[in-house]
Amino acid sequence: MIVKYLMLSSLPLSSGDNEGSLTERTKTSRLWMPKRVVFTAESMEESYGQKIYKRITSLGLEAKILKNNRLTGLRGETERETYKIAKNTLAIVKAPPSAFRLTPIPPSADWQYHLAQGCPAHCQYCYLAGSLSGPPAIRVYANLPEILSNLKQYEKPGAFTTFEASCYTDPLGIEHLTGSLEESIKHFGTRPDTQLRVVSKFDAVDTLLSLEHNNRTRFRFSLNADQISKRLEGGTATIDARMKALRKLALPKENGGGGYPVGVVLAPIMPVPDWKEHYSKMLDQLKQHLNFFCDLTFELITHRFTPGSKDVLMEWYPNTGLDMSEENRTVKRNKFGGMKYVYSKEMMKDLKTFFELEITRQFPFAKILYWT
Ligand code: SF4
Repeated sequence: MIVKYLMLSSLPLSSGDNEGSLTERTKTSRLWMPKRVVFTAESMEESYGQKIYKRITSLGLEAKILKNNRLTGLRGETERETYKIAKNTLAIVKAPPSAFRLTPIPPSADWQYHLAQGCPAHCQYCYLAGSLSGPPAIRVYANLPEILSNLKQYEKPGAFTTFEASCYTDPLGIEHLTGSLEESIKHFGTRPDTQLRVVSKFDAVDTLLSLEHNNRTRFRFSLNADQISKRLEGGTATIDARMKALRKLALPKENGGGGYPVGVVLAPIMPVPDWKEHYSKMLDQLKQHLNFFCDLTFELITHRFTPGSKDVLMEWYPNTGLDMSEENRTVKRNKFGGMKYVYSKEMMKDLKTFFELEITRQFPFAKILYWT
């Protein structure tokens, strides 16, 4: 699949005590640009929808305003063709009423809410496979102010409440087209005792550095061994670029960074041949980028799949090299009767021991939030 990218130079950052290498210009970032952009009629009745329209057309993209609210033309002759068409389509829509009834998302956060559904990347293990229905177009919500305002009723009075915004999309991957992440960060900046939680595999963070986040956004990057990422994470920023972005966000503001609490979501962890060596290398590389004290967390997630997600992924990526053979796995059931395939108990123990030891050794100031 040919995905069109726009190359943009990043802004220079000033130097500081901890900085050194950031006196030079940061590397260019690749921004995803859709081939087709459509706005539903009702999305254009929203003031934020009109803002997105201006943003998108000012990037030189053609945008079509539909006469109704039905998205058509997303299907091809085969599932693979449908995938190609949909993944190149950005649709601006109004979030349905169900988007206003939040659901919990343990262990990541108290609640999940959505800025969009769908993602421009092409990870062959994609978490969205099997959880979203229909062609995987990227649907961005035009009624964002309402969505953010609705979150207030979910804040626990007198306690800390966390909100995850990356369950159904990669918000940073489409931020240049939507601005929704910036709005969210600013919203949480005004809400005491809350935390916005974001995860990304992209790296265009420069526009976020100067925002008033008030330490209420924890910005995490999804990282993996380089050889796993290169093989399975199409259309994303490289591991090195993500680490650079993480560094920029974590550096104190006075050192030219964003001063955000940050995190690493190590996922999906896979015991590929020589996995200890590959993951040690990745953690060494991370240490080079994060060679200063910062508010850092780790979340450790091993690879798993369900029968449903495997079927969808095999349609999307028929030639995938991803190991989804059931024979090498243990079945885990949830309380609703659903099943997933995870690594064996022995393998899980080996992996867990390795990562906990290595992370504690390399990043003694960091906190491991969970292992799964
Ligand atoms: S970045 Fe996340 S949502 Fe996007 S394709 Fe990869 S796994 Fe799927």
